[in-house]
Amino acid sequence: MENKIAVLSREVANRIAAGEVVERPASILKELLENAIDAGADELCVDLEQGGCKSIRVVDNGRGIAAGEIGLAFHRHATSKMQSVDDIFHIVTYGFRGEALPSIASVARIEMTTRSRGSLSGCRIVLDGGEIESQQDIGCPEGTAVKVTHIFDHVPARKKFLKSVAAEQGACMEVLVRIALNRPDIRLVVTSNGREVLRVPHTAELSERLALILGEDTAGNMMPIAGRRGDVRLSGFISRPDYSRANTKGYYFFINGRFVRDGLISHAVMTGYRRVIPEKRCPVLVFFLETPPEDVDVNVHPAKTEVRFRNPRDIYDCVVEAIVAKLAAVPGGERGLYGKQPEQMETSYHRRVEEALKRYTLVMGGNRPTYGDREERRQGSSLLNLWCDSVVRQGEETIPDNPSADSPRFSILDYLGQVGATYLIFSGGDKLVVMDQHAAHERILFEKIRSAAQKRTDFQQALLVPEVLSLSPAEYEQFIQSRDILAEAGIDIEPFGGNSLVLKAVPGPLANLSPKQFLPDLIDEVLAGGKTVSSAALKEKLFAVMACKGAVKANHILAADEVKSLCAAMDATPFNATCPHGRPIYLIYHQTDLEKLFKRT
Ligand code: ADP
Ligand code: MG
Repeated sequence: MENKIAVLSREVANRIAAGEVVERPASILKELLENAIDAGADELCVDLEQGGCKSIRVVDNGRGIAAGEIGLAFHRHATSKMQSVDDIFHIVTYGFRGEALPSIASVARIEMTTRSRGSLSGCRIVLDGGEIESQQDIGCPEGTAVKVTHIFDHVPARKKFLKSVAAEQGACMEVLVRIALNRPDIRLVVTSNGREVLRVPHTAELSERLALILGEDTAGNMMPIAGRRGDVRLSGFISRPDYSRANTKGYYFFINGRFVRDGLISHAVMTGYRRVIPEKRCPVLVFFLETPPEDVDVNVHPAKTEVRFRNPRDIYDCVVEAIVAKLAAVPGGERGLYGKQPEQMETSYHRRVEEALKRYTLVMGGNRPTYGDREERRQGSSLLNLWCDSVVRQGEETIPDNPSADSPRFSILDYLGQVGATYLIFSGGDKLVVMDQHAAHERILFEKIRSAAQKRTDFQQALLVPEVLSLSPAEYEQFIQSRDILAEAGIDIEPFGGNSLVLKAVPGPLANLSPKQFLPDLIDEVLAGGKTVSSAALKEKLFAVMACKGAVKANHILAADEVKSLCAAMDATPFNATCPHGRPIYLIYHQTDLEKLFKRT
């Protein structure tokens, strides 16, 4: 075949751009909402059908588009937000690339009705698969209404990659939550399949809507934070030291009003919280960084969720300092609830900052990643992943090899005592046995819950006082969708009006536990479960979460008779060499091992 160079047709170019901007229904929703906000709207109505997979409608009261310009809005690189190349360094609007509308139009059917302020009549345009189908003048209110349907009908490959309706709905709700957190001045009403799922009125302060958006339980554990370093200012809310979640879903970072996912900031957050929350747990944070627009490059990613900083060190230090100062002011925060003394923290801090900045330059610096170049992008993100992993891994002890398979009989060992209120020490003939009390109890509970669920005996226990939980709208939707799996895992949960649920029964082995102790993590697991392939796998995860929460903690003094029953239960438990996360439960040192350690051999 002759390889002739030819300029791509408009249609193909738009379709390619769409591949990057329009990944899933939630990304369409995001672009439509950002356009509305850029148009100065302070009232937004959103209707979703089937989690946005069937249709997405956004109505705003913004300044609208003049009838003569409506066709232009669907041209690639047509924007009202930038005139010259210098503007790219002072971007204050969400949009500026002029790509969203033509991209959406190329992969779906889009109807737009709009009337600009002061015009006598409005205008309606319909495009399908990128082609204008009709355009006419029409009477309508000021502002713009956009409806997108037949999403990915022309791109079957994309359609195949859509996740479950629940997962797509969750992603759409997440987009809405970000806007609601970012802009308390905007009124937002959202319906899903005709049912109202979110309504947030205009408020002056974020604090007034935090509970509506994040759910009362989370909001009740947040405290305000503020900080400043050089040109960087920080404000917002962070969670109390005694509250944590299993993953980083509660990270809401906004840079100059733009939601971003940023590894450098996440790292700074972990550094700030390191002393006070347990390893591998994550706080919830809603914070806003303000920096002169010329100090952030937002033109790094088509969906603009990644940015590049000119002064990463200021950003990093600002975040850590503000968090550390706030947490230190919490009673008991000075020494930290977990982990290290402040002095120890000081020395490791500088090393960690250096490391984080080095990685940052590795990922973002030098050559800017050019989007469109998939190879480079993949590399960029895998580096980021590596980095995020290493954040978690830092400080984690190396895991010793699996202990020998022939498990001792624990109830016949002599109990010698407890070390650090965490490890139980036994002797048995020529062996010294060290057991991790939390890991042991975790495995015991896990097996109990699992077999109860299988045999349906002692499977469920009704709570004397049913527990009401208020969730965020996004969490609520996904939780309701997962009701069946939860029921199989022994959890009976029912809608309770608004975004509240009532918990009526829990698995028998957990009956003595307060639901507050395990529900937040269960929610995290269910929410993450949108991606899990099988319900069986999700169920196992739920068992593991419940077992972990129900198990006796490290740093807890055990009475001798408690140790005795733990040992008896260990003897009756299968798979008792490792905890459900795969960590060893006990270590055995034979006399010969001790002799080696004492250099007798
Ligand atoms: P960008 O937002 O990057 O400028 P878009 O393709 O998203 O590009 O939109 C193109 C143009 O259409 C915008 O610059 C704006 O002038 C106009 N526009 C789009 N949506 C709206 C809206 N809801 N209200 C007013 N104008 C809009
Ligand atoms: Mg736009």
